[in-house]
Amino acid sequence: MLSFLAPRSLTELAAMLTPDRPSWLIAGGTDRLIAPASLPAEGVILDLSRLAGLDRIETAGDRLILGAGVTVARLASDDRVARLAPVLTRAARVFGSPQIRNRATVGGNVANNSPAADLTPALLAADAMVRLWRGGEERALPLESLLSRTLDPGEIILGFDLPAAPLGGFVKLGQRQEPAISRLTLAAAGPKGALRLYAGAVGPVPRRLTGAEALLNAGDPGFADSLSRELAAANPGRASTRYKALAARGLAEDLLSQLSGAGA
Ligand SMILES: Cc1cc2nc3c(=O)[nH]c(=O)nc-3n(C[C@H](O)[C@H](O)[C@H](O)COP(=O)(O)OP(=O)(O)OC[C@H]3O[C@@H](n4cnc5c(N)ncnc54)[C@H](O)[C@@H]3O)c2cc1C
Repeated sequence: MLSFLAPRSLTELAAMLTPDRPSWLIAGGTDRLIAPASLPAEGVILDLSRLAGLDRIETAGDRLILGAGVTVARLASDDRVARLAPVLTRAARVFGSPQIRNRATVGGNVANNSPAADLTPALLAADAMVRLWRGGEERALPLESLLSRTLDPGEIILGFDLPAAPLGGFVKLGQRQEPAISRLTLAAAGPKGALRLYAGAVGPVPRRLTGAEALLNAGDPGFADSLSRELAAANPGRASTRYKALAARGLAEDLLSQLSGAGA
């Protein structure tokens, strides 16, 4: 039999995560429910959407605290997010369709670990820490450290903690305007002169483009060319490499325009 439970606290969640039955986590369901054979016949589905605190957006000094259950629609419209992490506002505004944005969560996007996830490169550019919970214990790690592994069974993302990154740009290449799986994304965030630059959908996990990042921070006009070369070198021999290298130049121009305050 398949049960459905919606814990309201971490204490309730811990009691529901018993080792004698398989459990499946769900937040907005936009990845989980459309996956082939996504619903098991036996076990328990644990709906995280009512877990206290998972939907919080708060500030602490000049840091932004996000619960994993914050929806993409709230990211797109929240003033505190726009002020402290505009890279997330921009990524959220080009994410899926309005219906998807209303359900999809930031934690689900990162946990699902898709190479085409839009929020993961944006959070990495913003130098986010991820807060994890497992077996009653909480810990905070640089998000970067989650790239090399998947979450353990029963491990939950509670949320993210970001330093202020007043400049932010996010540009995306897809096969159509929306909704589309990203073929290439660029995310840049930080203070002027110390931006961090990541590309998404260029491999299994987002890639920090350190060469292009240095030119971006120096205001060097060779930025777009360098970025295109760095992406081509990252994926040699793939059918899409040449196309993405060319498209990267256009995306780089759009990113510069956003960072200068001129872009949409
Ligand atoms: C039409 C359509 C368009 C889309 N467009 C985009 C797009 O433009 N950009 C993009 O990046 N993605 C897109 N997606 C993918 C999807 O919407 C996102 O990845 C979304 O953020 C997933 O969040 P969710 O809350 O719906 O996750 P769910 O489907 O509920 O869960 C996804 C996975 O994460 C796990 N999980 C969820 N929350 C947690 C947590 N707090 N801790 C641990 N594990 C957790 C679940 O167990 C599951 O394995 C699209 C999907 C569809 C169907």
